[in-house]
Amino acid sequence: MAPRRLGVLGWPVAHSRSPAMHRAAFAALGLEGWSYQLLPVAPDQFSETVRALGGAGFVGANVTVPHKARALAVADRASPAARAIGAANTLSFSREGEITAENTDAPGVLDALGRDPAGMSALVMGAGGSARAVVWALREAGASVSVWNRTPARARELAAELDVRAVDRALPADLLVNCTTVGLDACSIKDSNGLRNLPVAADELSEYGYVVDLVYSKRPTPLVRAAEERGLETVDGLEILVRQGARSFRIWTGIDAPLAAMRRGARDERGKDHI
Ligand code: NAP
Repeated sequence: MAPRRLGVLGWPVAHSRSPAMHRAAFAALGLEGWSYQLLPVAPDQFSETVRALGGAGFVGANVTVPHKARALAVADRASPAARAIGAANTLSFSREGEITAENTDAPGVLDALGRDPAGMSALVMGAGGSARAVVWALREAGASVSVWNRTPARARELAAELDVRAVDRALPADLLVNCTTVGLDACSIKDSNGLRNLPVAADELSEYGYVVDLVYSKRPTPLVRAAEERGLETVDGLEILVRQGARSFRIWTGIDAPLAAMRRGARDERGKDHI
């Protein structure tokens, strides 16, 4: 069988856990001929490189910072979710050279949540790329979504575009979702200092039923740790990484992803700082 190549496009991308996660899935299923590699590509080389991947034996690629909007732009076809969100994290290459773009970040967050958010209230913190996917996913699933951001104008812009509400302070909600980068470099701080740039103090976390943090690092993030200390249910960024990766895997291979193996693959790489 011809080699079936996959990879993750980013700049920088050396820190990505996706190769370990997908290789663990190939091994668990005994899939031979599949490979998954890092694809470090500078922004000005992105379109040209991606157009060449199909001819080089690539079946697909994940896309991470800073290329998700470019990935949508370079595609010949895109899913409605990728178009609505304005970003793609999964590309597929046909033998004829056609590129299809999808966004598995959005359904991946819902998979990780493990419950139907219909009718729930959600406070999303952040207005960057991941916040767009999360706000869109929660709204589509029937949640009532509010968005807070450090730069309020960006929250207002995102809210107007995706038809949700922008807020300038944290209001109690069923779900609290961190889509900012806060916590990325604060994981060695033992107290709740790591939350200081968020609108919610550690002692206010009990106003939320369920806490989700997209950020992940070597150790639990300050937000996840503070929520767990208060007995709240949490979802960490690694589970979200695994769930978006599992959906990408299904798209490329046509096979349900082995979640437990992918979790082990992703968590074994905990020595690395983040995705
Ligand atoms: P992004 O587009 O760069 O957005 C960054 C967001 O963080 C913006 O809302 C920004 O606010 C906010 N922010 C940055 N520094 C801040 C600070 N000191 N205080 C308060 N807010 C701050 O990034 P992204 O792609 O959305 O990613 C956000 C995080 O999610 C990253 O840590 C990323 O690794 C993680 N992520 C994880 C997964 C996963 O699979 N687990 C997937 C995607 C992303 P301003 O608008 O005010 O600058």
